[in-house]
Amino acid sequence: VMSASSTKRVAVLEGDGIGPEIMSVTLTVLEEVSRYYDFLLKFEKAPFGGAAIDEVGDPFPPETQKLCLESDSVLLACIGGYKWDNLPRKQRPETGLLGLRKTLQLFANLRPAKVFDRLMDASSLKPEVLKGVDLVVVRELTGDVYFGEPKGISFQNSKRIGYNNMIYSEDEVERIGRVAFEVARLRNRRLCSVDKSNVLDVSQLWREVIVSLSKEYPDVELSHMYVDNAAMQLIRNPRQFDTIVTGNLFGDILSDEASMLVGSLGMLPSASLGNPNSPGVFEPVHGSAPDIAGQDKANPLACILSAAMMLKYQFQLNEASIAMERAVHRVLEKGYRTSDIMSSGKTLVGCKEMGEKVLEQLQLIQ
Ligand code: ATP
Ligand code: MG
Repeated sequence: VMSASSTKRVAVLEGDGIGPEIMSVTLTVLEEVSRYYDFLLKFEKAPFGGAAIDEVGDPFPPETQKLCLESDSVLLACIGGYKWDNLPRKQRPETGLLGLRKTLQLFANLRPAKVFDRLMDASSLKPEVLKGVDLVVVRELTGDVYFGEPKGISFQNSKRIGYNNMIYSEDEVERIGRVAFEVARLRNRRLCSVDKSNVLDVSQLWREVIVSLSKEYPDVELSHMYVDNAAMQLIRNPRQFDTIVTGNLFGDILSDEASMLVGSLGMLPSASLGNPNSPGVFEPVHGSAPDIAGQDKANPLACILSAAMMLKYQFQLNEASIAMERAVHRVLEKGYRTSDIMSSGKTLVGCKEMGEKVLEQLQLIQ
């Protein structure tokens, strides 16, 4: 656990497209928050993604790897773009992302879905269903059917069969379970574990491990749900959820489903975590939006909210994190919108101006 006075080193990967614009605004907001809440951040930038391919021919160069490993946390904007789409797979920006996840041994992905009252018209669901929704999906990233061996297509009686094993070890479930219970503790202390234990043995093990782990977290209320029901409940009554934990495959599907509750790509943050005290990666869900790059049109709010997640889940700076979120809420309440979330009667602002509005609201919250 870090002491409040120690400087936290943050590796900053701006990446491509709108990355530098949204990151610049985000760092300004973080600096302001750190002044109010009395902690020190040291930002160190490094090339990553397409920008790194252009600079040194490698989407995740050794010096960037070194910096990330030495840092307390990694803040990432976004990578990719048409420019690099025709490179061989190993040289594409996205390969850098895989390398980053592997290097930092990130095994937990957090995707919050928080509905902003003022943006409810952007979602396809009814306001009475959406109002007050504030949940996070904790998805396991390194196991499950995506990694079960043997893989591939083989022959049986001269007919092809595709084959993937769904595998989870006790240790893997316990590891993701711990992250989820800790996340629930930083939120509203309700955890719903999603599995398919009525059909799958691997899910039965999942449930047993989560249940025995829950004895260490008596302050967190644990419930269970089958994945098919969870998929339905997310649409029917999403307010019932606080923290959801699930495996790689179910999490893949449920995270995307949950993000649709919010309606807008430019508002969705995410976090990927490894072991406690090792650096996690905090990044917006959206891509590099090359179509609007360099025009000061990008929505920086998902990146700002990702930085808020860093304060909460990496540094346990809960108050500062909540202040950042609240400032974002207030800006939306005041009617400021970037073009991606613009609607009639609202005030259109650019990326930089949106950042200034967030700073203004932060000052008012103090
Ligand atoms: P990736 O393949 O990297 O996941 P993508 O190509 O699926 O990304 P994005 O790059 O996220 O998608 O962009 C999809 C659309 O949403 C684009 O038209 C883009 O302009 C818009 N968009 C995405 N993020 C933002 C943002 N932060 N602000 C404004 N518009 C955005
Ligand atoms: Mg893309």
